[in-house]
Amino acid sequence: PNSKAGDGKPRLLLMGQRRSGKSSISSVVFHKLPPSETLYLETTTRIKKESMHSFMDFQVWDFPGHLDYFDPAFDVDNIFDEIGALIWVIDAQDEYLDAIMRLNTTILNLQHSYPNINVEVFVHKVDGLSEDYKSDTFRDIIQRVQDELSDAGYENAPVSFYQTSIYDHSIFEAFSKVIQKLIPQLPTLESLLDSLCVNCRIEKAYLFDVLSKIYIATDTAPTDIGSYEICSDYIDVVVDVSEIYGWDRPAENGQLEDADINETGNNDAESLITMERKGNNYLYLREINKYLALICLMGNDSPAEKKALIDYNVGVFQEALAQVFPRGEK
Ligand code: GDP
Repeated sequence: PNSKAGDGKPRLLLMGQRRSGKSSISSVVFHKLPPSETLYLETTTRIKKESMHSFMDFQVWDFPGHLDYFDPAFDVDNIFDEIGALIWVIDAQDEYLDAIMRLNTTILNLQHSYPNINVEVFVHKVDGLSEDYKSDTFRDIIQRVQDELSDAGYENAPVSFYQTSIYDHSIFEAFSKVIQKLIPQLPTLESLLDSLCVNCRIEKAYLFDVLSKIYIATDTAPTDIGSYEICSDYIDVVVDVSEIYGWDRPAENGQLEDADINETGNNDAESLITMERKGNNYLYLREINKYLALICLMGNDSPAEKKALIDYNVGVFQEALAQVFPRGEK
């Protein structure tokens, strides 16, 4: 099924001023463009709709910063009716007062007509800032938005803030958190992952969307960015291997047409299972379905015996997941 406006699927909308980094973010996260090559991207000058064909459908609407989207001539309902989250990108290396003013106007407008839409503020390009300046800027931006909201009587508006950069894992981590809020099955997934961890003495388990390296769920043990980085780097190995003999995946450009064609492809391929030593840890990876892979991080106690136990328990997990997410199965 195609993802068109009107199909009720959650949608992500990327907004922010010109040169704030919108095209770069969507290219790096969804098309695996190396961050340094974003220097040569054309800045966003029009509304670009892109669909990600994944375990769920979501769209990135890349808005130019100067567009007056609350102009009555503009079809607001068509844009906001279905989206799950509005991601607002602010360039933290630039003057940001004007950006905040526009953001505040947008939030107030949304609160009026679409109060359930999550507003996710990416304080972006923080890679160029010193630690002190970075946290001062972050605090200042949060303060300016919250002051405006409470003045208007919207203290509880669903607005969250993240520090992001395309030059490290922070942009993926932020996207993961944004997307997890849009997955109604999240509590179920988390408890499935929790019991997997307990049964197999796994330290941390992530369920990744392989194409984007966004994790859609993890167990409820505290996450540190280090374990996310180890696991997410490991995915690259797998994507390379499984492009040869794993499940067929949608084309990298994320276009629906291509994805639909590919979907009828090589469905009988075996899922990939690997276990490897990484420093003092072991990494276990298994493709769960066409879009998702499970990656587990664990200590190095008797890995050989553990492998059978994990294989078995992950099989159980995989079946349970198929009940939760009927899409993307073999
Ligand atoms: P858009 O107009 O909002 O689509 O902005 P672009 O994606 O064209 O980005 C504008 C510039 O910001 C480009 O030169 C990017 O390389 C740069 N940029 C984007 N993200 C980052 C980031 O996280 N850190 C740094 N230092 N530069 C970034």
